[in-house]
Amino acid sequence: MPTRAEMWDRLGDPVDVLVIGGGINGAGIARDAARRGLRVALVEKGDLASGTSSRSSKLVHGGLRYLEQLEFSLVFEAVSERRVLMDIAPHLVNPLGFLFPVYEGDRRSLATITAGMVLYDGLSLFRSPRLHRRLNPGQVAEEEPALMQDGLKGAPLYYDCSTDDARLTLETALDAAEFGAVVAPHVEALGFLTCELKRICGAVVKDRISGRLKEVQAGVVINATGPWTDDVVAMGGHELGPLLRPTKGVHVVVQRDVLPVNNAVVCFHPDDGRVLFAIPWGDSTYVGTTDTDHEGDPDALWATAEDVDYLLRCLAAYFPEHPVGPEDVVCTWAGLRPLVRPEGSDLDTSSVSREHRIVVTRDGLVTIAGGKLTTYRLMAHEVVDAAVRMLRLSGRLHRRLKDPHTDEEPLPGAVHWPEDDDHDAVAERIQDVGGERIAPRTARLLAGTYGALGAQVARLVRQDARLAEPLVEGRPEILAQIDHSVQQELCATLTGALQLRTQLFFRDVDQGLGCAGRVADRMGELLGWTDEERRAQVAAYEAEVALSRRWRAG
Ligand code: FAD
Repeated sequence: MPTRAEMWDRLGDPVDVLVIGGGINGAGIARDAARRGLRVALVEKGDLASGTSSRSSKLVHGGLRYLEQLEFSLVFEAVSERRVLMDIAPHLVNPLGFLFPVYEGDRRSLATITAGMVLYDGLSLFRSPRLHRRLNPGQVAEEEPALMQDGLKGAPLYYDCSTDDARLTLETALDAAEFGAVVAPHVEALGFLTCELKRICGAVVKDRISGRLKEVQAGVVINATGPWTDDVVAMGGHELGPLLRPTKGVHVVVQRDVLPVNNAVVCFHPDDGRVLFAIPWGDSTYVGTTDTDHEGDPDALWATAEDVDYLLRCLAAYFPEHPVGPEDVVCTWAGLRPLVRPEGSDLDTSSVSREHRIVVTRDGLVTIAGGKLTTYRLMAHEVVDAAVRMLRLSGRLHRRLKDPHTDEEPLPGAVHWPEDDDHDAVAERIQDVGGERIAPRTARLLAGTYGALGAQVARLVRQDARLAEPLVEGRPEILAQIDHSVQQELCATLTGALQLRTQLFFRDVDQGLGCAGRVADRMGELLGWTDEERRAQVAAYEAEVALSRRWRAG
């Protein structure tokens, strides 16, 4: 894999498709297009997945609650994609139980919810990760002892999947790169190039690390910028009116011993009845989400004290024996849902449809707006179909293309993944490669994070024992992951390593601040940073951590 800087050097040759935005949609489009045999470049102004695609609830799900809104086709599509993603990324998309407690006086009865579950399993053609079952209060107490038991009538337990959203995006983009796409993080599209009839035929892009500019000529330009969609449409000088109505969603992370849950627990907020989840996440639990309108700059986003207070109030209602206070919050994250603006309506935020829209403007810019992480692959396919039609109609594409088979071909970490989905067997293989320098729980972490490619990280340790050093004392992450990030995963910043690729930002009680200096030293050695650059990287990371704690100032 070329490094990030080498990707920048490669950028500039004319391509068939230029994708702006390296979230899940942009990565999915690049993968689909590259696998068809198109010449592809993708530019991302921050890091891959640094936008909404690392700020989601990290669920690959059909969206049970959309059944209430009678959006059956949306649910059917999503549960079908859930199955596809479990097949092509089994190391990243894992079954997760969802417990739906029902209490005396609840608006929804046990019978109604159970009927919904039958429908939900049915829409997946009974190929759910596991079929639902109904627990009585005694069984619920055993399954989720932390949950309030007073007035409990029972709880259906159904299954969806959890994922690592940032890594799903990263692996999708890396797969595109393996098929020849130039994938360039930290490169911003600043403006469009236009040719005959004012058609867009490329973009002026800027490397935000070196400050250099380039022009990239393209047959078609695709705008996959999520919450930034309208800004990029406006770059072409359009007066379309906003396509999006973005809403902000906040999550908080606490340690598992503060709020021990074994399944994702479905909660209804006592103030407004909105659905929230308390989700188990290794030695942490995260809770979300809020849903409030956000106007203005998508880059200016953080959790407020009000957001955190709202989430904690819901926990107090469901887990009274496990009080969670502001002092227990390790970390927060805030993301913007790039929701399609419903025309002329004044719906409350939780009722805005999650469906997507593909818009082709007169200048030939293809814009994808809306959608969900879960259904990114289908949307990407549709967008690339539209791009291919345009390329053929304009006479820019004559050669035959291949079928991309994105629904069957595994993501890089899933190649050589065992048929029986045995994570432990992969961890053992990784342990064999790394030898005793790798602790068993590190081997398990590497298997769950990189899939079969965890062996590459273990090989680094075999070659250099220093790389077995834990990043944080008592935690399983190791220094070799930093080398791997730089050499194999286009990582070029400290934040990229600690937040998106190792997740210490979210999972470590100190959010990785304790190891930031040491990791910056190692990255500096690998990337040739000056002292000043190294200091700037640490300062940028500290600023990112401070933003996630900004709510503490009130
Ligand atoms: P993004 O991930 O935001 O990517 C757009 C990228 O474009 C950004 O990285 C940005 O830096 C880049 N960009 C912008 N302007 C430029 C430019 N000029 N040049 C270059 N790059 C540019 N979906 C699910 O399926 N399951 C869930 O559990 C779930 N939970 C969610 C919870 C929350 C709180 C939110 C906010 C969303 C959730 N979603 C979920 C929805 C899902 O996360 C999003 O639909 C999806 O991540 C959007 O991806 P995207 O690629 O369109 O946008």
